[in-house]
Amino acid sequence: MTKLDQIRAAEARLLLPTYERNPILFVDGEGVYIIDENGDRYLDLLSGIGVNALGYRHPVIEEAILRQSLALIHTSNLFYHEGQAELALRLTERTGLDRVFFTNSGTEAWEGALKLARAYAGLKRSEGVPIGTKFLALEQSFHGRTFGSVSTTWKAKYREPFGPVVPGVEFVRFNDVADLRAKFSSEVCAILVEAIQGEGGVRPLTQEFLAEARALTSSTGALLLADEIQSGMGRTGKWCAYQHYGISGAPASAAADSSLGWIQPDVTTLAKPLAGGIPLGAVLCTEEAARAIHAGMHGTTFGGGPLACAVAIAVIDHIENENLLAHATAVGDYFQDQLRVLAARHSAIVDVRGKGLMIAAELDSADLAKLIVAEMLKRHILINCTSETVLRFLPPYILERAHVDTAIAALDEIFTEHAGAAGVAPAATQAAGGPTHV
Ligand SMILES: *Cc1c(COP(=O)(O)O)cnc(C)c1O
Repeated sequence: MTKLDQIRAAEARLLLPTYERNPILFVDGEGVYIIDENGDRYLDLLSGIGVNALGYRHPVIEEAILRQSLALIHTSNLFYHEGQAELALRLTERTGLDRVFFTNSGTEAWEGALKLARAYAGLKRSEGVPIGTKFLALEQSFHGRTFGSVSTTWKAKYREPFGPVVPGVEFVRFNDVADLRAKFSSEVCAILVEAIQGEGGVRPLTQEFLAEARALTSSTGALLLADEIQSGMGRTGKWCAYQHYGISGAPASAAADSSLGWIQPDVTTLAKPLAGGIPLGAVLCTEEAARAIHAGMHGTTFGGGPLACAVAIAVIDHIENENLLAHATAVGDYFQDQLRVLAARHSAIVDVRGKGLMIAAELDSADLAKLIVAEMLKRHILINCTSETVLRFLPPYILERAHVDTAIAALDEIFTEHAGAAGVAPAATQAAGGPTHV
């Protein structure tokens, strides 16, 4: 029995069967490569689902972990440590928001955002503003697995086994402005969006839809919540994906409250790449929304600990010092260009989209998408498939053009072999579909 076989047998016996893992045992990493027990290197275009922004064994992260672990790892939030204010300053400066609450994960950040929206609506009611408790979420949304988050997540298979979920959530058709207008009323306390949906298939909101969501919420005192857990922290070439949405093209009513040059939400959430692999999330909000929170209303034992904060500060400073936002934009544009060249050769690729290093190639068949992920894995390149037919690329920000060329050549080979000129896939027989869990 190999070591991997032993681990698989033990996990099968001991763990809740929540994951269909690929049968690979990773033990190490270096730069954009993750390395298995045999020393085989895999080009990682998924970076632990958008987490390992600086790749593996990055000296900046190693140094921050070492330095902080020799001092303090945990204090609890009953006392001060040096990291939270320092990190909060960096985050508020980059997002245009005013105040921060730190968490350990994405879903906890989203829970905090939902609770803040309900508390703020309560405050407004106490001030005489008629406003309800309903959330408008979007179809194809993904916000996490805890109760509030999963209640605002579109896929029924994530929600229904756990019912009843949190009541008061209605789903709006993606990018359908008329549906948004029809479902919005003073009953709504918040509209919930991802500027670019991640698990939903790397789908960007239209300028018009986001502007309308901003205008509607501003008109009643409801909040606009932007989940940037996957798309934030530089992934798309800007600190937040909503910063791609200028106010110039928006209806005049939407521009009113923003002097920042982009459509500004009231609340945003960050997590995945925030601390380069150490668990950390954050809720950010305006000074106005923060009026709803006072001491004792919300909290966490671990959130915003000294270790996670120290690493996040190091990651942000490194992204800034090395101009990695511009790099992500340039390499991401190149990646999309090359995927478009591929799409011209293989009719099975029906769309290429994304921003920066959050990229998708949509195929005409779910079986083919599964097959491509499995074939890429055989060639030691990690990608995944989301939303059935969408190949998703979330590489580390340190990706270079040469890595893109390697991936494109492999894809070209696989499409040529398996999709044919007609773009029709043979039935996929491989069981390993790649990680589909976000
Ligand atoms: C991953 C993700 C979450 C949940 O984050 P976890 O850290 O897995 O709890 C929430 N929203 C979006 C957009 C995500 O991509």
